[in-house]
Amino acid sequence: MPTLRLRQPAVAAKTDRSFWLQDIGAGAATSPLAGAAEADVAIVGGGYTGLWTALRILDLAPETRITILEADFCGSGASGRNGGQVHSWFAGFDQIAAVAGREEALRLCRASVASIRELEALQADGTIDMDLRLNGWFWTASSIAQEGSWAQAVRMTEEAGEARFEHLTAAEIESRTGSSASYAGVVERDAGTIHPAKLAIGLRALALSRGVAIHEKSPVLDIETGETCRLRTGNGTLTARRVVLAANAWLSAIPELRRHLYVVDSQVIATAEVPEELERIGWRDGASICDSQRQVLYYQRTPRGRVVFGRGSGGVAYLGDFGASFNRSPSHGRDNIRELHRVYPSLRGVAVEYDWSGPIDCVPEHVPVFDHLREHPNVFYGMGFNGTGIAQTPIGGRILASLVLGRRDEWSACGLVGIEKRTKLPPEPIRYIGSRLVRGAIRRMNDAEIQNRQPGALVRWASRMAPGASEH
Ligand SMILES: Cc1cc2nc3c(=O)[nH]c(=O)nc-3n(C[C@H](O)[C@H](O)[C@H](O)COP(=O)(O)OP(=O)(O)OC[C@H]3O[C@@H](n4cnc5c(N)ncnc54)[C@H](O)[C@@H]3O)c2cc1C
Repeated sequence: MPTLRLRQPAVAAKTDRSFWLQDIGAGAATSPLAGAAEADVAIVGGGYTGLWTALRILDLAPETRITILEADFCGSGASGRNGGQVHSWFAGFDQIAAVAGREEALRLCRASVASIRELEALQADGTIDMDLRLNGWFWTASSIAQEGSWAQAVRMTEEAGEARFEHLTAAEIESRTGSSASYAGVVERDAGTIHPAKLAIGLRALALSRGVAIHEKSPVLDIETGETCRLRTGNGTLTARRVVLAANAWLSAIPELRRHLYVVDSQVIATAEVPEELERIGWRDGASICDSQRQVLYYQRTPRGRVVFGRGSGGVAYLGDFGASFNRSPSHGRDNIRELHRVYPSLRGVAVEYDWSGPIDCVPEHVPVFDHLREHPNVFYGMGFNGTGIAQTPIGGRILASLVLGRRDEWSACGLVGIEKRTKLPPEPIRYIGSRLVRGAIRRMNDAEIQNRQPGALVRWASRMAPGASEH
């Protein structure tokens, strides 16, 4: 039977980990796989997707024996490194509708609102303290080119009778965010921010308490496929009749998936704690803010008064194979620091104490896809969250659980299931060379547009070749 070869993520040095992971001293809490083990369902990857999938399977079939194999520790991937912006899928209503149709898109958008409610309930009943603050998600413009980026999604949302967004004046944005850089936009109520690593570690604890076996420090090297699959790590072998690949951008190791998946990195910085200064400028709560650059800026203030400021960097990986520079960039967030100072000039003197990066699993439609591998009906996967996963991976978990359990329901029949209808990307090296050129053009376009300058015709033409509008 054919063997699937996976890649081992480059493990980040402790000092290269995200502020979030360092803040709570996150690390492995379970032992590596050793010797031979058996499960009904094996899950590769202990981020939000893998953990939610395990929990959803247990909701539907509590007797299922589930084992998660995680290369480093749960939350060490994107789930413990992200910007902590919690918003529903209504912002991507148009993109989901393009893939799944309007009715299905509306159902998924509503499901993502329910996910936010679920996070709120998990925090309220003391199950997971994740610093969830639902003070709104601001989707703004800080230049002419960005104005109205939200128009289509907001219009579709309103037409569906959903009151998710409210338009904002420049004064309202400034009074809530402490910055006049963005001067137009909308706010999604019942959205906001979390501490991403607290959520990841909380989900790990929840999964363990419900009987999921988790082995950290257990990178899966390969999977011998067949009716029973054998997942091999350095020191052990797990056999299972069903497998879920929840390994995010690392799924680019599998050629069948790489045809649809491209990996870019996103960089984040965190300043020193400056609560008094943030109070002074009027930035007081847990709202999340993003602008509408193509390499989206996203930022929040933590409860203790740090500014966490992220931006898509435009870095791409040949064959989707990325290493330690996607843990922490050699530039140490230089672009983000420049943008931070543009948006918050009064923070120029404030130290930037952390910088880190993370890989984003992108598909051209900007909407995730779920399926099983073509030749392997018992090996399932979910990928393509495109930088928006906190309120979306709980839905991914539902879809994967229904697929794995062979259920016929609204999740296994969901419009996000099925890779055949998705766009195939060009092969390497054309893809890498093309992406480098396009991303260079996007960067120049961005830099010009931020200053309301018109970029050259060549730059405009090349930037239109990007497979999708914007990225974290
Ligand atoms: C910098 C950054 C900023 C972001 N900002 C936001 C945001 O503000 N809001 C939002 O909603 N979303 C955001 N996202 C996206 C969000 O974090 C992801 O969509 C989500 O975390 C995906 O979860 P996951 O479980 O699929 O992936 P991951 O958390 O990456 O989990 C995959 C896991 O698989 C493991 N793995 C890989 N290969 C193997 C192997 N061979 N064997 C075993 N394990 C393996 C990895 O170690 C990793 O832990 C951001 C992402 C990044 C990187």
